[in-house]
Amino acid sequence: MTEHRFTIMQVPMSSPHLGEREICAVIDVLSTPVLSMGPKIVSFEQAVCTYCGVKHAIAVNSGTSGLHLAVIAAGVKEGDLVITSPFSFIASANCILYERAIPVFVDCDPITGNIDPDLAEQSAYDLNRRRNWRRWLPPNLRNSMTRIGQLKVLLPVHAFGQPADMDPLIATAFRYSLVVIEDSCEAIGAEYKGRRAGTMGDVAVFAFYPNKQITTGEGGMLVTERTDWDVLFRSLRNQGREGSDGWLSHTRLGYNYRMDEMSAALGVVQMSRIEELLAKREQVARWYNERLREGDLVEIPCITPTTTRMSWFVYVVRINSAVSRDAVIGRLAEDRIASKPYFKPIHLQRFYREEFGYKEGDFPATEHLGRVSLALPFSSVMTESQVDLVCGKLRSAVRAELNEASREKG
Ligand SMILES: *Cc1c(COP(=O)(O)O)cnc(C)c1O
Repeated sequence: MTEHRFTIMQVPMSSPHLGEREICAVIDVLSTPVLSMGPKIVSFEQAVCTYCGVKHAIAVNSGTSGLHLAVIAAGVKEGDLVITSPFSFIASANCILYERAIPVFVDCDPITGNIDPDLAEQSAYDLNRRRNWRRWLPPNLRNSMTRIGQLKVLLPVHAFGQPADMDPLIATAFRYSLVVIEDSCEAIGAEYKGRRAGTMGDVAVFAFYPNKQITTGEGGMLVTERTDWDVLFRSLRNQGREGSDGWLSHTRLGYNYRMDEMSAALGVVQMSRIEELLAKREQVARWYNERLREGDLVEIPCITPTTTRMSWFVYVVRINSAVSRDAVIGRLAEDRIASKPYFKPIHLQRFYREEFGYKEGDFPATEHLGRVSLALPFSSVMTESQVDLVCGKLRSAVRAELNEASREKG
């Protein structure tokens, strides 16, 4: 997004929460000779293993890198199919394109914005039997001679920190022998029916960009129970080196997706504070809810009963659909309050339209959310008076736009 306006926002979109301990941890690394592949990576991975209760955690240099490696491990080859949601951050679909595979988008649940499990099942059923199946493909591939490979993966995203409806999704994956890759990049600490996000699929990815619940600057983490994949991920992130390979021997095509020691040191401290950080975010969400629950100007986020713990990544409201969400963003910006349209549907991004022939109308639930969703400033360092300020300005912005809309009608 070209959201690099350099006006200083009085309330920023997001903010990392770093203290003296984080600063010291990073500086301490700088006084050692080991800036990569050292002890901090090991500690950070161990901390995530313990927190999630998983066997293996493999740190990488971004969430996107982690998703790419997960797609490779799942055996996805050129032309293969991956079922996923168009209501997400672009990386959850791009990782499919990196391997020249084909994303099969299915629409989202209009309440949660997570992949609709019934549509996932229907598409998998048809694609698996190859009957009445081409309608699930991207438009440009429906009548083309492009070789269509196998359906291999189901890739749900836990949008905004709320887990997707995993039980029916896992049942679908089992029925058609699909690998489940959980995009948990927005959901560390979230729980679905008491189960932690990241522990329900075959492999999951967390992300640590500065706007996420915990940060390492740039960074990501793969988690899995599979020991063979643990070995594979360690090789892939490290230029394809394996076990006994020396620095200049490479068993397979790999990447430089390593996380450095400064980032890992930051991650270790952030992980030790994760419950504190999640609790603070939850408090900020509660402040917003209290102020925005009443009235018909905006709708507050809806948490479904299967979400036994929300891990608040962003706070996204739905603007009254009679007014222009983008005009509201403009009015807030005049008061130097940041806000963003979360998400722009992936299928409507320019290169997805051009490559695959998607257009407006293809995924109505996703597009509706894309039109009315507005992410408000959100972080664990926000104060109650900042929330007050944002809510006051938001109300008057929406009210002003409503008045304008009714004046235009009348
Ligand atoms: C943040 C995020 C990612 C990964 O982002 P990176 O910037 O590469 O760490 C992937 N998927 C979703 C849904 C995300 O929000």
